[in-house]
Amino acid sequence: MNCEQVSKEGAAVTSAAQPIRALVKQIDPASWDAYSSNLVKWLKANGRDGDCVFRLRAGAKLERVYGSGAMFVGQKFSLDDATDTDFSGALLMGTLSFGRDAPRHCHAGLFAQLQEIEGFWQQYIDRGRCAIDTDHRVMFRENNRIVSRDGKSVCAWCSAEVAGH
Ligand SMILES: [Zn+2]
Repeated sequence: MNCEQVSKEGAAVTSAAQPIRALVKQIDPASWDAYSSNLVKWLKANGRDGDCVFRLRAGAKLERVYGSGAMFVGQKFSLDDATDTDFSGALLMGTLSFGRDAPRHCHAGLFAQLQEIEGFWQQYIDRGRCAIDTDHRVMFRENNRIVSRDGKSVCAWCSAEVAGH
């Protein structure tokens, strides 16, 4: 199947697939500010059961378009077609920035260049956006992420010591 053959029934969900409604309840930004409200808005509007988070493989051709290490949320376009190389989803940083307005697209050939980040949703549940920005380089909209504790700069969300802030 390719991107032109869009089928609403195409989302054959396996029992292992992450149900989006259950996930959304676990990452409610009202419960912890480490969770992104825009990601939840995107998942509610555009998410599908089984959506995972992926990273571009090192050396992938599409690094020229998206930059190395770019992360995507979504899934293989056609789950019941082992030869499908297309990806249905969005750039993860786009969902964090634009919420529901970040479109979900079929990206031709992208799935073949992605590597799933195993256990991503559990990491996100545990560490919030630190699961996305493990090096603490991104300045998220909230500016209370890095706090001073015993004279050290520490991440308020995951407790990692952060240098250079
Ligand atoms: Zn952190």
